[in-house]
Amino acid sequence: MSTAVKFVITTLVVLLLGSVAFILFLHQQLQEAPNPFERPPTASESESQEEASPLPDGSAVTVVPGGHDTTLADLGTRPDWHMLDLWQETITRENFTRLLTQIYTVDDSWKRYITIKPDHAVIRTDTTKPNTYYELKFSHGYNDSSPDRSWKSIDDLPPATTNKPLADLRIAIDPGHIGGEFAKVEQRWFQIGDNKPVMEGELTLTTARLIKRQLINLGAKAYLTRGTNEPVNPHRPEFYRELATAKARSLGKTDEQTIQYFQNKFFYLTGEIRARARRINLAFRPDLVLCLHYNAERWDDPENPTLTNKNHYHVLLHGALTSAELAHDDERFEMLTKILQHNHEQEKGLGIAIAKSLAKATKLPAYNYQPHSKRARKVKGAEGLWARNLLANRIYQCPVIFPEPYVMNNQEVHDRVQLGNYKGKKKINGVDRKSIQREYADAVVEGIKNYYLANRIIYTP
Ligand SMILES: [Zn+2]
Repeated sequence: MSTAVKFVITTLVVLLLGSVAFILFLHQQLQEAPNPFERPPTASESESQEEASPLPDGSAVTVVPGGHDTTLADLGTRPDWHMLDLWQETITRENFTRLLTQIYTVDDSWKRYITIKPDHAVIRTDTTKPNTYYELKFSHGYNDSSPDRSWKSIDDLPPATTNKPLADLRIAIDPGHIGGEFAKVEQRWFQIGDNKPVMEGELTLTTARLIKRQLINLGAKAYLTRGTNEPVNPHRPEFYRELATAKARSLGKTDEQTIQYFQNKFFYLTGEIRARARRINLAFRPDLVLCLHYNAERWDDPENPTLTNKNHYHVLLHGALTSAELAHDDERFEMLTKILQHNHEQEKGLGIAIAKSLAKATKLPAYNYQPHSKRARKVKGAEGLWARNLLANRIYQCPVIFPEPYVMNNQEVHDRVQLGNYKGKKKINGVDRKSIQREYADAVVEGIKNYYLANRIIYTP
């Protein structure tokens, strides 16, 4: 065989193997995503593969001025690592390691940025500069000391009464997405023929109002991050033109479609959640945030959507950072603040209670991610409870619970949405059911109530 023929054959084999690997990768990504719209369906799936990772030897990533900064999450800002001084010597080495390896990461890639020594951890900080580290000392004792934080855990609350088990609690309710005239651009809209369009942003707002009223009746102070189908973000897509162009270019794209995709996404998703985070972290300062969502399976054409017989629920709490997410200096910092404030314990207790009450009320099976998912980790204690790193549950600075019940493009769910939000019960496939929004709201409130009744000191006045 001539060298030229050998070369051609080798090239073909390499190309073939490469495409098979790529198809398998795409297949896994699609199988894993419970809601293709929860994560942008195009460029972003490969985005994490293309972002630069700093090397373990302390070298730096070069960021071109005016270019997309690959060392930060989209629209992220460089963190002030000295904020971690608040939590020096407050966590044991054992707890730090357990939370980092069993909840907050999915593999060993954290070792590129964090080195655990006998009495401290060395953490890589600004990866645009060589050899920049922060030293976090572990607690000397066998226990953690109570950490400094803006929110109250179950142990910080005074006793409450049986009919006001949520007294002294501040709870923010974040109705996912925007709805209204923005439902189409945020890809949370579909319609079958002349039926009422299904818009996630409107379903979540109705559900949020029902929850708010009940939480107040149970003694809590409750706040909505939005009370209308309007964005909280003061900016519109055009505002993000330059950033979107830089982002597209960092992925090797210069076409108008990709630039517009990022412009829109920065407006309705990234910028919107960051605007809500300012409201939550600076004004409401809650002890808990409920991020309300309705799930979906891929529906493709919104004017002629694919309906599915799948229907399920799951509940998310924070954790499971991917290697690409850990490579972002701000995400790594935000993860550490969650670990140091002991967010997980609180999220887990509430998550278990809400997952159980949702399963009971909706009678739906739990959704399961792939067993070795690279972006979700199963949390013990209830079916359908998972950890994932989403912008909202990472940057809202207190425990965050993220319910994801119902598949909107399931036939029965679609039909229930057509009935609107009604009082009492109506026959759905032969069974008396509350409106879908009330069933959802009542289940979430029931879970929260059960958790505080079981874990707070309760007395009867
Ligand atoms: Zn959603």
